[in-house]
Amino acid sequence: MLQLENLDVCYGSFKALSDINMTVDTGELVVLLGANGAGKSTLFNAISGLIKPAAGDIRFEDKHLNGMKPNAVVSSGVVQCAEGRKLFPQMSVHQNLMMGAYVHRRDRDGNKKRLNEVLELFPILEDKAGQPAGSLSGGQQQMVAIGRAMMSRPRLLMLDEPSLGLAPLVVKQMFETIQQINSLGTTVLLAEQNAFAALKIAHRAYVMENGRLVMEGDREAMLGNEEVRKAYIGA
Ligand code: ATP
Repeated sequence: MLQLENLDVCYGSFKALSDINMTVDTGELVVLLGANGAGKSTLFNAISGLIKPAAGDIRFEDKHLNGMKPNAVVSSGVVQCAEGRKLFPQMSVHQNLMMGAYVHRRDRDGNKKRLNEVLELFPILEDKAGQPAGSLSGGQQQMVAIGRAMMSRPRLLMLDEPSLGLAPLVVKQMFETIQQINSLGTTVLLAEQNAFAALKIAHRAYVMENGRLVMEGDREAMLGNEEVRKAYIGA
């Protein structure tokens, strides 16, 4: 579904990503592990069209995403839910969710159906629909952010650190919902520092260090790998 080939990304003279080769197959939930500053957000921003790669190829289904504008990438079916949530805090939860439906604004019936599906994933948001998004708890704001991304009807959903700053119980629920989104048919690429929880729901994972992919494997291989456990799980 998604193929990255020999991808390089630079900020001026600093090479943030070097020679990235990665695939995500339809239906998979793939986790990208890496410490702060490893390059995970840079990779997502390159796929989303927010940063232009210096070299290499980004293919999604039959399209080359390199050089595409971010809104065209979303229309192609690749949607990013960015780190830090980036909601419109003064606008209501409902308005925030509907912002995600902008690319499908002519399909009112489809958007209504999709909104119901999103509210089934996050029932608490139905009660909060009229409240300003900024008044919600951190976990609820993260639900709005993922819900907004789902309103764009992604075939590939990219989640950047969705568990950041959330309480442990909320993190557990968040990972369960991400797994549910995947099992309902959306392919997921998930960047996480919460390695153990992420690997438990993953099919496969990559490890990124200093802008390079240094390891790849399926869930069992990663959970059983001593280097991964030492560096990212702490056991
Ligand atoms: P985090 O989880 O902290 O966001 P990350 O793995 O997502 O980490 P990136 O944010 O992609 O890492 O950063 C990768 C590298 O690129 C870091 O060394 C960072 O300092 C650098 N970097 C990121 N954005 C810029 C920018 N706009 N200009 C220059 N350097 C940048």
